[in-house]
Amino acid sequence: VSAPSAPVAPVPALERLGRRPESFPGAVLLAGPSAERLETEARRLAAILLCPRGCGAEGSSGCDSCRRVHAGSHPDLFVVEPEGVQIKIDRVRQAIAFAAGRPYEAPRRVALVLGADLLGLEAANALLKSLEEPGSHVRWILTSSRPESESLLPTIRSRCATVVVPALSRGQRAALWAERGYSPDDAADLALCAGGAPEGAAASERLEEYREARERILAALAAALAVPAGPSGPAPLLLLAEDVSRAEPPFNSLLAELLADAALAASGSADRARHRAVAGPLAELGRRRSAEAFRRAALAAADPPPDNRRGNRRLHFEAALLNLYGTT
Ligand SMILES: [Zn+2]
Repeated sequence: VSAPSAPVAPVPALERLGRRPESFPGAVLLAGPSAERLETEARRLAAILLCPRGCGAEGSSGCDSCRRVHAGSHPDLFVVEPEGVQIKIDRVRQAIAFAAGRPYEAPRRVALVLGADLLGLEAANALLKSLEEPGSHVRWILTSSRPESESLLPTIRSRCATVVVPALSRGQRAALWAERGYSPDDAADLALCAGGAPEGAAASERLEEYREARERILAALAAALAVPAGPSGPAPLLLLAEDVSRAEPPFNSLLAELLADAALAASGSADRARHRAVAGPLAELGRRRSAEAFRRAALAAADPPPDNRRGNRRLHFEAALLNLYGTT
């Protein structure tokens, strides 16, 4: 997987590290919620460490060395990635042998271990000595989106300087999509649809599907909350609960988000809503029930059970939605 090329505001701690490659620690662990962003930052650091000029730039502004790092073809860079659910021990042994060698052309070598929490016990133990005494010719960069997980050995963690790479805010994610040429409306929806993975290329393919799911939820809520009450009573809400219970992320959080936005609309704070693209239908809903009723429903709809065995997810959403029925 090559690194996505969209620019992201750099993490200050990483900037400082990159500016002084001589004092870069022997082993660094980049930890944060987005595995893709960690990989981007790890490759950017590797480019700086390997660049004879220290530029580290991407794309056409980068020098030949940096371009080859980002293309994955630099001879002094070795990348270990998980294969399936684990990092293969053979690959770790190759990395250790690589790290012990002299650089071909760069001031030093860099070994990346992406998804270090997927190191098996044997592989992790093999790595310890090299992390502890890497020597002056190599730098290790590990990444983990689950650094607190038990599978990342404390012995590994303690041998690395940890740098936290925070998640992007919704506004930053939207800005990223806009930089790629999406309209402001599309960028805002993509930031929601792609969740914390701003680089998720699949998100743009799912945008239409995402918007249709949102329309369906809004239409069902509008039908259920019609005044005077429709002849079908709460039936649309029960159907909606059934529908939402089968949704996968990010679709399964749509209902709670829209209910929260309806609460904001009902309290006159629509400008703080997430789903501003559907401000009209939200305002309409906001006139049907109190902000308090929507807020209760939104809270109840959040955190659905992880599976739908025995219909427990459907029941969860039904119970949440019934907060809206019969109240005003
Ligand atoms: Zn360069």
